[in-house]
Amino acid sequence: MTHDLPDGRLFIGGEWEIGTGAEITSIFPADGSVNRVLKGASRADGERAIARALKAQADPAWRGLKPHERARYLHRIADGIDANAQRIAFIQTRDTGKTLRETSALVASAAATFRYMAAALETLDDSLTSPRGDYLTMSVHEPLGLVAAITPWNSPIASDAQKVAPALAAGNAVLLKPASWSPLVSLELARIVEEAGLPKGLFSVLPGAGREIGNLLVEHPSIAKVSFTGGTSTGRTLARQAAEKLMPVSLELGGKSPTIVFSDADQELAVAGILFGVFSSSGQSCIAGSRLFVQRAIYDQFVTRLVAATKALVVGDPLDPATQVAPLVHPDHRSAVAAHVAQAVEDGATVLCGGFAPEGGIYDTGSYYMPTILSNVTNTDRICREEVFGPVLVVLPFDDEADVIAQGNDNDYGLACGLWTRDFPRAYRVARAITTGTVWINTYKQFSISTPFGGEKDAGMGREKGREGIRAYMAQKSLYVDLTGRPHPWARLQEG
Ligand code: NAD
Repeated sequence: MTHDLPDGRLFIGGEWEIGTGAEITSIFPADGSVNRVLKGASRADGERAIARALKAQADPAWRGLKPHERARYLHRIADGIDANAQRIAFIQTRDTGKTLRETSALVASAAATFRYMAAALETLDDSLTSPRGDYLTMSVHEPLGLVAAITPWNSPIASDAQKVAPALAAGNAVLLKPASWSPLVSLELARIVEEAGLPKGLFSVLPGAGREIGNLLVEHPSIAKVSFTGGTSTGRTLARQAAEKLMPVSLELGGKSPTIVFSDADQELAVAGILFGVFSSSGQSCIAGSRLFVQRAIYDQFVTRLVAATKALVVGDPLDPATQVAPLVHPDHRSAVAAHVAQAVEDGATVLCGGFAPEGGIYDTGSYYMPTILSNVTNTDRICREEVFGPVLVVLPFDDEADVIAQGNDNDYGLACGLWTRDFPRAYRVARAITTGTVWINTYKQFSISTPFGGEKDAGMGREKGREGIRAYMAQKSLYVDLTGRPHPWARLQEG
């Protein structure tokens, strides 16, 4: 089925070219077979993309478009994504190992993101500000110019759209660098953008090594902003480089998100939400609810129920509609997840379920890892502090509201939180006291393009999505227009 996959050429400033950087091998994590071997982008490829982008972005054919005219391109890209939905979902499943059901949902959300940003673009207004003198004052917005979007491997089409749609809507040119484990779906997006007729040069897709092409994009003087999603340590490095050239950077980073079950919770709702929150995407999600606090009065009974439900999850082939937990993205990543669990056990954790790679049949060739629950841990243990980015949940008891707020916040990350209770005033109090960018109440991992998203503390800086999401890719400018028609009195022109 590899004929259904992009051929491995890169999209460099509107031209399909073979990269001249290091080789990238995309594998299908379900059986380890090779999807494509391609050459990534070198610095020279990146320089070429930047030169073409500069030209295209400055061209009045793009720069001069009114918002509603620019919006048409976004609608066409959304239509192209919808028309190719099955193919894109298949490519993303091949690239990442995610279930087809999940990648289909991500593709639909990518199309919706382009449509939403088109609508937002047409309806976002510049403003007249209150005059403080005999002049008219306006606050208007300009494109930044060239924007680099650097994305991780876990949900490429959705995280690509989340950056590319608002950045294009704002009138910029965009250089997208996907992760090396998942280059193909972003190259497919390039094909769709090309078919939508976006002027050549405005969009590039440059898979390649972070330290080579990624670095170029961050350091290049022509790049006006980097929008990054990925790990916290990479984000920190980027922020340092960005500070050097005083460039704005938005960072969507990692998480160790608490989910909290109070004793009055609807337990059926809570179990389903917690399972989905931590084990869908095999836990390879920045917002995975990986740190579970259960109120002491129901701890034993609830954890028993959760473990039983976890053991019933179907772990298998991502192309099989029955599968709930698919393989991890890469054998190397599975080794990293297994090492986290081994370390936790060495530190004293008890394995309640999972904790191993399944064997036999399809499991022998794919990067599978069983959904794992660990107890007998304290909130300060490594396993409760570090992001595993796999199907691993830690469970801890708590006493009361104050205790769980303190434990929930006692972590370097601040991305998301889930609360399960029937007591709304309590849910509201806890939601306001938890230091995270998103709080879900009696639900988890729901996403809406109309609602801002981002992290606190080590989980990142800045917000994406929402109508204001476009503004993050624009430079605000103030205009003053004289209304008097008289020379400024300071110059005393009348006196001479
Ligand atoms: P990563 O940080 O290793 O890589 C992310 C991207 O940055 C890749 O494209 C990579 O090639 C590039 N990169 C690496 N080094 C670079 C450098 N020096 N300069 C420029 N670019 C560089 O992350 P990953 O392993 O691909 O993804 C997993 C991480 O992403 C997890 O920590 C996860 O929590 C995070 N994530 C966050 C969100 C969010 O919205 N907060 C969403 C998804 C994933």
